[in-house]
Amino acid sequence: MLSDLYLKKNEDRRLRVGHLWAFSNEIDTKRSPLTAFEPGQAVVLRGADGRPLGVGTVNPASLIACRLLHRNPEAVIGADLLRERFQRALALRERLYPEPFYRLCHGEGDYLPGLIVDRFGDLLSVQITTAGMERLKDTIVTVLADLFAPKTLVLRNDTASRTLEGLPAYVETPIGAMPDTVTVLENGLRFTAPFAPERGGQKTGWFFDQRDNRLAAARLGIGHTQNPALTVLDAFSYVGGFGCVAAAAQISQNTHAGKITFLDSSAPALAACAANCTANAPDYEAECLKGDALTELATLHDTGRRFDIVCVDPPAFIKRKKDAAEGLTAYRRVNDLAVRLATDGGIVVSSSCSHHLETEALHHLLTLSAAKRGLNAQLVHRGGQGPDHPIHPAMPETAYLKTLIFRLWRD
Ligand code: SAH
Repeated sequence: MLSDLYLKKNEDRRLRVGHLWAFSNEIDTKRSPLTAFEPGQAVVLRGADGRPLGVGTVNPASLIACRLLHRNPEAVIGADLLRERFQRALALRERLYPEPFYRLCHGEGDYLPGLIVDRFGDLLSVQITTAGMERLKDTIVTVLADLFAPKTLVLRNDTASRTLEGLPAYVETPIGAMPDTVTVLENGLRFTAPFAPERGGQKTGWFFDQRDNRLAAARLGIGHTQNPALTVLDAFSYVGGFGCVAAAAQISQNTHAGKITFLDSSAPALAACAANCTANAPDYEAECLKGDALTELATLHDTGRRFDIVCVDPPAFIKRKKDAAEGLTAYRRVNDLAVRLATDGGIVVSSSCSHHLETEALHHLLTLSAAKRGLNAQLVHRGGQGPDHPIHPAMPETAYLKTLIFRLWRD
């Protein structure tokens, strides 16, 4: 029998309409003291009236005290539940993508709070962010091995958010050996990215969430330039997803080759940009600039460089609500530089992966920047994370990425 965790009166309302979290201040600690539970322990969560909300895991050390995994209070948190969830997640991805390269499990969005799995063919890159999932680690590895027979399974449990759950940071390879690089097939192209953390691998290896936005940027870029050679600026490029997809789309239309300028602070990422450009857009020249984007963007602007397509895809400048003001200033500066670096008639592709920056706020600062610079602007694309990062409709927290594409010109 699982222990019961009780909510205070009326605190069940958000969960009754689908949300999966109970915060620590919503728990009736007189009735069910959080300190009585071990981190990650399975519980039945109940409203003040005793009606069950489902089974979940508890972490007395976290602000998010309980995360639900199943609505049935009789459900057992274990291998069968994981297998069912993974199969359901897989069925969605198989409908969407011809090849096995995608985010296979997007935490709460796939009803598996605290678990991320990225799939690169026969390599699985797993990230656990909660004490509840950490307890299931061995079962997760066994079930994934059983369903996918991966050659390699890596646990990238070195993300900063684990500290919020009182979990240590580590990287482990329970199946196979840690590869230096990983190959990704996306949008008909082949990319190589650093994978091992000591080789400059970031996150789980690749940013799958931008797949559709890269394509949207490429589509809008095609043939729009009067110049003989298209110029693309891919700032915060990582391994060049935006720039390479845009360049390859141009080539596929038999338009003239051009130049991609990649800008990032990571040397291994830039080395991969050059290789990915050669592999996917061989007629394009790759220029790699290493440094802090704000400084480099300003220098590009001041030296008179302009680009037909400007992509800016910074890391989350607002990680927590309290960073909002400072983060907003950084977004404003980056986007203002992006607007100023676009050619007359050029395109700005602006992304933010901060949940706390609303789409409207990004929209607003681009609009203001264009107006301030005396430019006309059109919003031609509003995108979010790809469908292999499903949004839990009752959990705004699971929607984080926004990409806006503006066309700009001078009357
Ligand atoms: N656009 C990429 C993903 C970008 S992730 C894609 O489509 O895959 C954010 C990138 O910004 C990372 O590669 C990171 O190395 C880089 N970065 C972080 N801070 C930076 C800074 N201050 N200046 C330049 N690059 C930075």
